[in-house]
Amino acid sequence: MVRFTVLASGSKGNCTVLSGGRTRILVDAGLSCRELFRRMKLAGEEPATLNAIVITHEHQDHVNGLAVTARKLGIPVYFTEGTHRAWMRWLQPRRQMSYAQWLEMVRKQAAERRAEPESTTEAAENDPDEADLENSVQSAAPASSDPAPVSAVDPAPDPSGDHRPTLKDDPTWLPAFEYFQAGQPFSIGDICLNPFTIPHDAADPVGFVLSSEGVRLGFATDLGYIPPNVREQLRDLDLLLLESNHDLEMLRDGPYPWSVKQRVLSRVGHLSNDAASEFLAAHYDGQAAYVILGHLSENNNLPELARVAAERALLGRASLLANRLLLAAQHEPLSAISF
Ligand SMILES: [Zn+2]
Ligand SMILES: [Zn+2]
Repeated sequence: MVRFTVLASGSKGNCTVLSGGRTRILVDAGLSCRELFRRMKLAGEEPATLNAIVITHEHQDHVNGLAVTARKLGIPVYFTEGTHRAWMRWLQPRRQMSYAQWLEMVRKQAAERRAEPESTTEAAENDPDEADLENSVQSAAPASSDPAPVSAVDPAPDPSGDHRPTLKDDPTWLPAFEYFQAGQPFSIGDICLNPFTIPHDAADPVGFVLSSEGVRLGFATDLGYIPPNVREQLRDLDLLLLESNHDLEMLRDGPYPWSVKQRVLSRVGHLSNDAASEFLAAHYDGQAAYVILGHLSENNNLPELARVAAERALLGRASLLANRLLLAAQHEPLSAISF
């Protein structure tokens, strides 16, 4: 069975769980670890069964709980190299080390770890650390991580006994990570991921088509417009999660400073209700059982405006069997969708 649960969607945090076959992944970790676990349980998902975390881009609403969650669960994180580097810069703006120096240090540390498999244990990570990280992400400590690939379908639930630094010492340390590139599909256990480049003001942002057991799910939020490469990807889907960020008039007349309005409206900002509707009306193939509108702005949109625009665009194609329209919310999980 394939199950898709949006735990949160919007500028205060994005997080989705996808189960396919024996594999369960988190797409983005934009909630605090505590809130993420709470919502997973609310939605009937067990955090300890997650196999990996996949990150679309480094904006805070997509990575807020990343380090704590990955550490707690001892699972690998998948991102592009550009996103990983930008994430580390965000956590450690005063880092003095060059990337080449850092990589060298990581390799050395990994070699040391391999040389001493029976290492000493250290104090378990606890919540004060988490609070520290989430309240303040400032640290000048050098980074380290283990780039060695791990089996994503066989996670260690509580890794301890290696030389992992505390969150305070190194907020960028992860149990393991892997890089992917846009345009190059890869698998995590029973889930196949096809990342594609999206136009957004982040280092190397991606959307995904995720597939498992023959079910295809498209994931496209945080994009300034829908270029042809994205249109091409969003075909033959069973589920489409599409950004419907703002109503143009509400944004123009709303509280944001002009510079922020310009950023949101730009080609690397966010999709308006109109832009999402234009895609649904003119380019979408109408194949998906579910169309979920996501990343709605709380200041510059109303759920009803987004819904009405999309309904109009779907021209009556919405029904119980096809193009069922749902809205993902910021503050509560959307009911799980199963195939
Ligand atoms: Zn976002
Ligand atoms: Zn973003």
